[in-house]
Amino acid sequence: MKYFSLNNKEHHSNFENAVIRGLAPDKGLYFPERIVKLPDGFFKELSEYDKVEIAFEAIKEFVGKEIPDADLLDIIKETLDFDFPVVPVKANTGSLELFHGPTLAFKDVGARFMAGSLGYFIQKGSLGKVTVLVATSGDTGGAVANGFLGLDGIDVVILYPKGKVSEIQEKQLTTLGKNITALEVDGVFDDCQRMVKQAFLDSDITEKRKLTSANSINVARWLPQIFYYFLAYRQLMEREMKLAFSVPSGNFGNICAGLLAKEMGLPIDHFIAANNANDTVTNYIQTENYQPKPSIATISNAMDVGDPSNFVRILELFENEYSSVKNVLSAYSFNDEMTKKAIKDVHSEIGYTMDPHGAVGYLGLQKFLEKNPEYYGVFLETAHPVKFLDTVEEATGEKVQIPVVIKGLMDKKKKSLQISNYEDLKGFLLS
Ligand SMILES: *Cc1c(COP(=O)(O)O)cnc(C)c1O
Repeated sequence: MKYFSLNNKEHHSNFENAVIRGLAPDKGLYFPERIVKLPDGFFKELSEYDKVEIAFEAIKEFVGKEIPDADLLDIIKETLDFDFPVVPVKANTGSLELFHGPTLAFKDVGARFMAGSLGYFIQKGSLGKVTVLVATSGDTGGAVANGFLGLDGIDVVILYPKGKVSEIQEKQLTTLGKNITALEVDGVFDDCQRMVKQAFLDSDITEKRKLTSANSINVARWLPQIFYYFLAYRQLMEREMKLAFSVPSGNFGNICAGLLAKEMGLPIDHFIAANNANDTVTNYIQTENYQPKPSIATISNAMDVGDPSNFVRILELFENEYSSVKNVLSAYSFNDEMTKKAIKDVHSEIGYTMDPHGAVGYLGLQKFLEKNPEYYGVFLETAHPVKFLDTVEEATGEKVQIPVVIKGLMDKKKKSLQISNYEDLKGFLLS
């Protein structure tokens, strides 16, 4: 499959180059040249396929022959070796739980698929050693560290803001060792992000090391998120109701993958972008005016984004037609008080525990269903409640059960290097 840059449609790339580069040379996001519709028969017979076969059919056109089928199947098997259940919460509402992977948040799928793809291109031998350099505000770092752990030919360097990630998130980043190095930055997430960007532009570094990024702009992290929607639909297809999916959104990679799945023919009727106080897209849907803003800190911090990077991909999917976007996509915003109340109410009335991100998704869905009762709705539960322990326990007044994987993690010893400025990062990368 060929990709083009959203800044210049004349700039083309194959899948391999798009995965290795992340962004096009003109800083545009890569977008597939064609979106191939899958046959109706495939969707009708979905229940006869297992999850690996479904994922393979969904993604194979986007990869093309650049990864042979057998290798692609192996990558998918490793990516999807946990469950993606739709758990009934109310008569018209289900929760698609995406937190059963190794780091307990949905980014495991994208990180593992990207690690598998990059690993394949490296062992094929044309690339040499690669350094994955990534800044994290919490969940990305753990998922990337876990996904890339022990891969030959790849070093992973993660920058995270000192004292700004939760204890569990920090342990997930700093206890793995091997080819993973955690740099603890004396600063905030934006400082980490800025230093990473500067390193990509620094020829002293790029002459010595081949750098790549692992955030959601990379097609190998973005595209495999279509799997969630196919796997959820397989569990819902018996219902003869229209389907709506509510996606708690930050950089809008996940929901954009859902919209792509719909474009491929998956019978989902409507999407809801559920936002916290960072309401740039909510305002766009209401006014047609896209006005980026600085981000605001909230309790659903993985969604604290004021200028979502994948929004341009959504516009491209709808050929920049506002009316087409609006037909398929609703958007609502909720503040922290509303989010905490939803966690509390659903816990006490139904006995289901949501994390703050899932709770925003739940609220978005309920708001849509009030006006559209003919739908069955699913919200995406993107993180395990234990990752946001303090907020959830305060809201429910009950202890969250700690999963076994986390108990083992908390006993491990943190290992990080402290850095305070760009020169420290450069010194490390050149050493
Ligand atoms: C990253 C993340 C999100 C936001 O996903 P986007 O694809 O950036 O919109 C939502 N919830 C959790 C828990 C996350 O880690």
